[in-house]
Amino acid sequence: MRKKLALLLAFLLPPLAGAQTKPVAQSRPLVFTHATVIDTTGGPPKSDSTVIVAGNRIVAFGKTGRVRIPEGAQVVNAADKFLLPGLWDMHFHSPEDQQAREIFLPLAIANGVTGVRHMFGSEALLKQRDEVLSGTLLGPRMIVGSPVVDGPTPMWVGSVSVADAPAGRQAVRTLKQRGYDFIKVYQFLPREVYLAIADEARKQNIVFAGHVPFSVSAAEASDAGQKSFEHIFGMSLACSAREDSLRPALAEAAAHVGKAFDAHIELFIRNESEPVASYNEQKAAALFKRLAGNGTYAMPTLVLHRSLASGADPAFRNDPRLKYMPPNIRRLFDWELRFFTSYQPVYERQLLTTGAMHRAGVKVLAGTDTFNAYCFPGFSLHDELELFVQAGFTPLEALQTATLNPARYLGLSSSLGTIEKGKIADLILLEANPLENVGNTRKIAAVVANGRYLPKESLRRMLETVESMANKR
Ligand SMILES: [Zn+2]
Repeated sequence: MRKKLALLLAFLLPPLAGAQTKPVAQSRPLVFTHATVIDTTGGPPKSDSTVIVAGNRIVAFGKTGRVRIPEGAQVVNAADKFLLPGLWDMHFHSPEDQQAREIFLPLAIANGVTGVRHMFGSEALLKQRDEVLSGTLLGPRMIVGSPVVDGPTPMWVGSVSVADAPAGRQAVRTLKQRGYDFIKVYQFLPREVYLAIADEARKQNIVFAGHVPFSVSAAEASDAGQKSFEHIFGMSLACSAREDSLRPALAEAAAHVGKAFDAHIELFIRNESEPVASYNEQKAAALFKRLAGNGTYAMPTLVLHRSLASGADPAFRNDPRLKYMPPNIRRLFDWELRFFTSYQPVYERQLLTTGAMHRAGVKVLAGTDTFNAYCFPGFSLHDELELFVQAGFTPLEALQTATLNPARYLGLSSSLGTIEKGKIADLILLEANPLENVGNTRKIAAVVANGRYLPKESLRRMLETVESMANKR
């Protein structure tokens, strides 16, 4: 009997976080009335709108009073509020499974991040992806990239290490078969291996994205079909008047980097800092035109660059959002920043380059590189949008980097990225107009995640739970 009871309880009581975040199916239609809808396509906001959600879809959208409200619906008066598509963090990482579930996923949702692109996949993340879709786990919709595919002496534990072209091709086929949504390429891939991966990805009809390796130029990577340049690493080198002398030295050093982590990171820093002073406008303009023409996306992760430049600033390191990070993650933040002592010029360059790429018509994605120093799940996405405005984007253009552009990039624009009838109900309701001040995306009145309504009070409780989880002994 006891045993039976224990078994029953085990079923009824999933782990604590699971219990508190377990989605409840939306049993009746959800209706927002009198909302100002910003559909992110660029048209004027649609005032006094009614949006009806049934299941996980938007089933009706029109002027309030002209759309019939279904009987028994849950009606939310959204007068003076602004309804937008949910936000995507297009460069996301999370810690091991339990902390991901207890900390990272709730923080994303509580901040209106209803979609993430995972940049270092694993079996556990594939499982999370499926649980979110089936509704047994409350979290952002996930696109899960492969584990990092890197050269014979990879930088990170857990990478798929490939030393020659046939191994590169085999890795693409195997990772696709395991269910990953795209192939993540990394910086220490030898040239012939990288080109083989690009070719095989095309044959297998799977996207590849990631870092531009030292062994190829940004123009070559774009021509080879790399879909996005993460952190815009390598752009400074590609825009440098000294590229022809700097690149061979870096590529040579990368080919003999050895196994030490410090040696890898030193090359990263050299790659970004050595070319900064020789940025050439004409060279940059030609390159950006090429990227725009090829449909290569820029993924700047400006919040990451800012963090790496801010290690010496006690105010920056005293971020109140640290209270949501468990001690092991806080220690990782401090450990990482020790490597970056003179990164400010790189950060300033990345800010300018992001603005220049945008003006040249290169499509830009919002992403934060969570799990890196002071890149907080959910919260930092709002910082990133503000940095885009600082780089010269209009607030609407900044919003598009987290809504419309991700949907297009992912080939999901028929179901996501805008507010339209028939689309999936991933939504964010704001208390102030983000077109006037993009920082208003932080003033969240409610989130709808795959059709599930989470009012402000639920989001507040989620944050409280995360804080206590993070600080439990
Ligand atoms: Zn990353």
